[in-house]
Amino acid sequence: MATTTRVLQNFIGGEWAESTGETVREIVSPVTGETLAAVPDASAEDVERATRAARAAQPRWAALSAWERADVCHAIADLIEERKEEFARELSLEQGKPWRGEAIPDIEETAENFRIAAEDVKRLETAIIPSRDVNKKILTLRVANGVYAAITPWNFPTLIPVELIAPGIAAGNTIVIKPSEWTPIAMANFMQIMADAGLPDGVVNVIYGAGEVGERLVTHPNVDCIGFVGSHGTAEKIVRAAGLKRSLIEASGNGPVIVCEDADLARAAQGAVFGGFFCAGQVCCATERVLVDRRVHDDFLEEVVKAAAAWKLGDPFEDGTMVGPMNNEPTARKMDAHVEDAVAKGAEVVLGGARDSGRPTGLYWQPTVLDNVGLDTLVNREETFGPIVPLITVAGDDDAISVANDSHLGLQAAVYTRSLNRAFRFAEALRVGNVVVNDSTDYWEAHEPFGGAPGTRSGWGRIGGRYTMLDMTDLKTVVVDTGGLD
Ligand code: ADP
Repeated sequence: MATTTRVLQNFIGGEWAESTGETVREIVSPVTGETLAAVPDASAEDVERATRAARAAQPRWAALSAWERADVCHAIADLIEERKEEFARELSLEQGKPWRGEAIPDIEETAENFRIAAEDVKRLETAIIPSRDVNKKILTLRVANGVYAAITPWNFPTLIPVELIAPGIAAGNTIVIKPSEWTPIAMANFMQIMADAGLPDGVVNVIYGAGEVGERLVTHPNVDCIGFVGSHGTAEKIVRAAGLKRSLIEASGNGPVIVCEDADLARAAQGAVFGGFFCAGQVCCATERVLVDRRVHDDFLEEVVKAAAAWKLGDPFEDGTMVGPMNNEPTARKMDAHVEDAVAKGAEVVLGGARDSGRPTGLYWQPTVLDNVGLDTLVNREETFGPIVPLITVAGDDDAISVANDSHLGLQAAVYTRSLNRAFRFAEALRVGNVVVNDSTDYWEAHEPFGGAPGTRSGWGRIGGRYTMLDMTDLKTVVVDTGGLD
């Protein structure tokens, strides 16, 4: 390896510290194929030190006033905004997403999450509860849960961590974060910004590695709670390993987009295509399948082809590029397998259908539209996580609901209809945590509650502003005997 390769260090107790781990990973850009950094996996000793630092810092941090913690959050947001362009550039190079259209907005939203948390924590009021005994005053305090292990994925390498970090620390928790092994550089850069903005030592600590390090972290006795975003298989492993530790789990989705017979078809096509191709489809709330009423199928398909034409695959740094490479080979292989399976079972490739040759890496998957996708396909049953818009024809509203709900996942859905009555019928009947009417499955705002539906494998708890803060804190009840009546 060239001596100039950047070597990432752990960030523990306010300092960059060389890892004592022996396994070293190379981070290779999906955009160019160049080696960006070498990253040692954290050793057991590193996990011990990081969790000890978070544990030691927590009472001091929680003892500050909400206003003092909010000031730190605003200072971090200011510095993120100041360094936005370079921060986003490295994010694109490591993750693959278009710089101007996606990476910069990701960074802006990363800053916004700190602003939201800074203001939410000032309004985290609790109740004073009427008492049966007139001498008692019963009140509740909202207190931080303690030390969090945050385990995060590679599709939004700053935005997903901040969805846990900002509300978590604003409320007085401390955190050890293990970013995805595919995108650790973004977290290292993000940590540098938080430190430069004046985050006190030990409040956020960073270690690197894959599942083994993650498991060691979540099971460590210094860790009280877990914040996880990733795949449902990993979520289940974590929950099993962590036992009774409290967790906030946001796992996979299989987002259906339902196109009713009365939909504005051009709008539905725009939304379905956006949800399918944004971030090369690597979003937990992506359009994973499109259930289109058979009465409008042909016209809708025509609109989809028109809308998809705008989604140019290419270099994420070139203006006009809408889709960059996929982030990593295992995910690209899953896309290969899902398309192959659908086609073998009778689906037709309308657009794309293969990786693009002649690119700097093999990860440039063509934006793909499939028609006549069967119900017994991987595309319908599992999360594909690639740039795909697969059309499944349904017989009407009841059929759409039954196909949509016949899934072990239930995160997000979209419905296109001109009827308010229909919209609410779907909103109530779909077994997902979030329903978007007349916009893409990918529509979200940073402060809205987002998460899985009970009875599915998409997780529990809510990501998004105040709702995450509520999840990452708890009520402590205080009963005061006032000493009796005079
Ligand atoms: P994705 O499909 O987004 O890569 P994963 O669920 O594989 O999702 O990974 C999400 C995060 O979970 C990553 O940071 C990964 O290293 C971590 N991880 C994987 N396996 C485990 C495990 N057994 N325990 C804790 N963390 C894990």
